[in-house]
Amino acid sequence: MKVRVGVNGYGTIGKRVAYAVSKQDDMKLIGVTKTKPDFEAYRAKALGISVYAASADFLPRFEKVDFEVAGTLSDLLEKVDVIVDATPGGMGAKNKALYEKAGVKAVFEGGENASTAQVSFVAQANYEKALGKDYVRVVSCNTTGLSRTLSALQDYIDYVYAVMIRRAADPNDSKRGPVNAITPSVTVPSHHGPDVQTVIPINIETSAFIVPTTLMHVHSIMIELKKPVTEKDVIEVFENTTRVLLFEKEKGFEGTAQLIEFARDLHREWNNLYEIAVWRESISVKGNRLFYIQAVHQESDVVPENIDAIRAMFEMSDKWESIRKTNRSLGILK
Ligand code: NAD
Repeated sequence: MKVRVGVNGYGTIGKRVAYAVSKQDDMKLIGVTKTKPDFEAYRAKALGISVYAASADFLPRFEKVDFEVAGTLSDLLEKVDVIVDATPGGMGAKNKALYEKAGVKAVFEGGENASTAQVSFVAQANYEKALGKDYVRVVSCNTTGLSRTLSALQDYIDYVYAVMIRRAADPNDSKRGPVNAITPSVTVPSHHGPDVQTVIPINIETSAFIVPTTLMHVHSIMIELKKPVTEKDVIEVFENTTRVLLFEKEKGFEGTAQLIEFARDLHREWNNLYEIAVWRESISVKGNRLFYIQAVHQESDVVPENIDAIRAMFEMSDKWESIRKTNRSLGILK
């Protein structure tokens, strides 16, 4: 039996999750919603994906250009077992009532408050918590990135301080900035630390800056250790951690540009880099402090988590079976 999946909000995350669902042999993509018949709607149709209007209010936009939709969100909800809500942040909480009424499980994204769902999810950190649940939130790209590496080091952590250098906008977003400034998040600590704590119980504080780039986020992470660890140990931990890859400056990975080029060279769809990239040379231990630097491809690191969340919600696989299946289907390197 295949789980029937719908995607509400076919944007940056929604289109990637829809693609990932279509690559699973235990899931079936039933359809996606669009608010307007733009190029993404035409492309979805060309790919054979059923396009639904996000609500009846949007139907005239489609009728005006004779774009035939398969129905509205309510029709889609009648045909699916689970909906992935990838609408802009905050909208998922409002949509939840529709999902409850339709008796459909829902996966929410990181733009929603933790209270919208029963569990905040990162597969390798807390897969079991989502088993059988109806509402699961896949945390934000930054929280996913922090949780992947920090959960692997959890036994060593006394206290984490992380500085997040955030991309200003996604590459397809020409409205957001800054174009020429470094903008600090003046709320210190930033919300990212508490968000990580919804996934793993660690002491963490974060601060954040937005910089004029679209490619990736970068995190500078400092850990106060509760037991000794060597650089070699940390490298070994990351080498054995799924969805985390080590990159070397010596091999030409000078910054995020080369990481994205690496994903392009892999012929990854949309140059997705699902894995968190840690610079090997940045891993350094000084006394009881561990330092490392990592990069997060904001458009794609959360995509495999959406797939694993669905498997957990329907108790289709155990943690490692799901992670391995998802990794294989998306060409994730380890
Ligand atoms: P996006 O703006 O790229 O896509 C949202 C899509 O929802 C768009 O296609 C938009 O047209 C559509 N939409 C707008 N109103 C709608 C409505 N009423 N009903 C249905 N669809 C509607 O946004 P995104 O970046 O994909 O973000 C989606 C979610 O994923 C947010 O919670 C966000 O915080 C989270 N997230 C985003 C990123 C990222 O870097 N882009 C990373 C991780 C998590």
